[in-house]
Amino acid sequence: AAKRSGKDRIRHFRPGMRQGLRDRSKLETELREGLGRDEFFPVYQPIFALNSGTPVGFECLARWKHPQRGLLLPELFIPIAEETGYITELSLKMLRQACRDARRWPDALILSVNISPLELRDANLATEMLAILKEEGISPNRLSVEITESGLIADPRAADTVLSRLKSAGVSIALDDFGTGYASLQHLRELQIDRIKIDRSFVQQLTTRTNSEIVRASIALARNLSLGITAEGVECSDSVDLLKDWGCDLGQGFYFGKPLSASEATESLLGGSLSDSALRGGQVDAA
Ligand code: C2E
Ligand code: MG
Ligand code: MG
Ligand code: MG
Repeated sequence: AAKRSGKDRIRHFRPGMRQGLRDRSKLETELREGLGRDEFFPVYQPIFALNSGTPVGFECLARWKHPQRGLLLPELFIPIAEETGYITELSLKMLRQACRDARRWPDALILSVNISPLELRDANLATEMLAILKEEGISPNRLSVEITESGLIADPRAADTVLSRLKSAGVSIALDDFGTGYASLQHLRELQIDRIKIDRSFVQQLTTRTNSEIVRASIALARNLSLGITAEGVECSDSVDLLKDWGCDLGQGFYFGKPLSASEATESLLGGSLSDSALRGGQVDAA
């Protein structure tokens, strides 16, 4: 009977699992080909100073224009890029394109790019990033690197080397998704961080007691450590008011604007629409 139920179970679960694995390995191949065919491109979400209500920069977010599957989001392809080792190639491509786009924006605007902790294992990463900045004519002072907390930092010494090099060149470092990572507080202690970004899952619903306490405590912690603090996932004006009261300096989210294509970002700056509501609800077109 045991054997039979085992068989049944196999019959029950295998087809879906096999399908899943096939899809996965297909996506891996497609990701590699897509990188070669430049199917990945950045979109830009504005970041605002809460007190003045003015834009201070853009966060660069990767998109994949897949030839059959359409526009794909990072949650689908970043994990695959991490597992297959293509994440650094992807990040460096995004950085280069972002530098080219940022050349058309005012010098004062910060460009923020994401890197995964896995990339920090390669001590050469800083050299490669700085070379791209130089080649593309962007000052390191304009760059902020967000360490996305998708995993533990496996090699703290390599990570320290990379971050030290970036920092001494003038790049600033932010700890992304603060509060949700595997080791947010440990990273805060061990890495040379300039800013934390509070994860949107806490900011989106500031009306719940737990979330508001976590956000307030995170802001207080950041301020006591003389770090900057960005709230992600700001979706309404009530949140802006609360975050300002609590001492948060920067905000990002659908209330201020959705991620924009490069040309939309440039137009919004030229037209001055970034400081008013014209940008809110703006959509990115994949073309
Ligand atoms: P993240 O760095 O925390 O980026 C913020 C994400 O929150 C973006 O999703 C953005 O579209 C979304 N978002 C912003 N404001 C709001 C809001 O008000 N409400 C809601 N519900 N969502 C909001 P996206 O573009 O899907 O990116 C997901 C994650 O993928 C990013 O999270 C980042 O961790 C990662 N990622 C994106 N591009 C890259 C990249 O080039 N390299 C690496 N390593 N990771 C990347
Ligand atoms: Mg980020
Ligand atoms: Mg984040
Ligand atoms: Mg996030």
